[in-house]
Amino acid sequence: MKALVYQGPGKRSWQEAPSPALLKPTDAIVKVTRTTICGSDLHILKGDVPEVTEGRILGHEAVGVVVDVGPAVSNFKAGDHVIVSCITSCGKCEGCKRGMPSHCTDGGWILGHLIDGTQAELVRVPHADGSLVLVPKGADEDALVMISDILPTGFECGVLKGEVKPGDAIAVVGAGPVGLAALMTAQFYSPAMSIAIDVDDNRLEVAKTFGATHVINSTDGKAALAVMALTGQRGVDVAIEAVGAPVTFTLCQDIVAAGGHLANIGVHGHSVQLKMETLWSRNVTITTRLVDAVTTSMLLRTVLSSKLSPRKLITHEFALGDMLKAYDVFGNAAREKALKVLLKAG
Ligand code: ZN
Ligand code: ZN
Repeated sequence: MKALVYQGPGKRSWQEAPSPALLKPTDAIVKVTRTTICGSDLHILKGDVPEVTEGRILGHEAVGVVVDVGPAVSNFKAGDHVIVSCITSCGKCEGCKRGMPSHCTDGGWILGHLIDGTQAELVRVPHADGSLVLVPKGADEDALVMISDILPTGFECGVLKGEVKPGDAIAVVGAGPVGLAALMTAQFYSPAMSIAIDVDDNRLEVAKTFGATHVINSTDGKAALAVMALTGQRGVDVAIEAVGAPVTFTLCQDIVAAGGHLANIGVHGHSVQLKMETLWSRNVTITTRLVDAVTTSMLLRTVLSSKLSPRKLITHEFALGDMLKAYDVFGNAAREKALKVLLKAG
């Protein structure tokens, strides 16, 4: 089969690779019909994720068709259309039982990270019963690729951790795919004010279609002042960090209201400054989380019922074999006005 193989920092190739086989009775083999590229794949290619070794097939998001299952898989059979969750869950360990499969002792984020991933014609999915989600007949399977990772990530790490409530003022710092997923799913709770902040005007325009009531381009370094002006100098009840950089984490600290939440989603490669001299007395809660993908089935229902329209996040479509071209477009997201790129097997 063909697959996108990591060849060390800065190097990737679309090449022939051995087809995966069932290794354990709980495995499934899935034919990938749709996949996408994630910001974390770019982090891996930069060399920021050293546990990814040369020769690894990348990707952790996909929709596909089950071609084979091990004898211990009871929920899925060949021919089933499925969403491959970015989080593998054994369902039995302490992490899984605590609703925290991101810290599953035999799973978590392993696809395209510690084991071969979904940017391939076929993928082996361990613990298939806990790691696949059945796609109902007739669903828009393009849109469902957004359920592998970005919708649960935005919702669980941003909205649930941030405890968005009706009437809240919220700010999402970073209007990339995950920030937009947080903005979109925050609307379940009817915040009164949803502010999107980014340096890219195109993304801010898109944010308006996902519920942003106000947008701020932070290029001038004055976003905090703008948020304070919009909120009557109060700040926001929930500041969601969806970038993973010191400057955006600082901005969230500067705009969170007394009693508010700062919910981090971003993948941080560097230390950030914690402004305890101002935060200590402000009853602020700061949270972190790796997506657990425990809300996947709920999010699937909201997409099937058109409460959410994550399809709008797909800006580019490629054939699976044009993987390298898709990486080039996604890697130049601002210039290409790219959010999510969809790769489809023919
Ligand atoms: Zn991802
Ligand atoms: Zn587990």
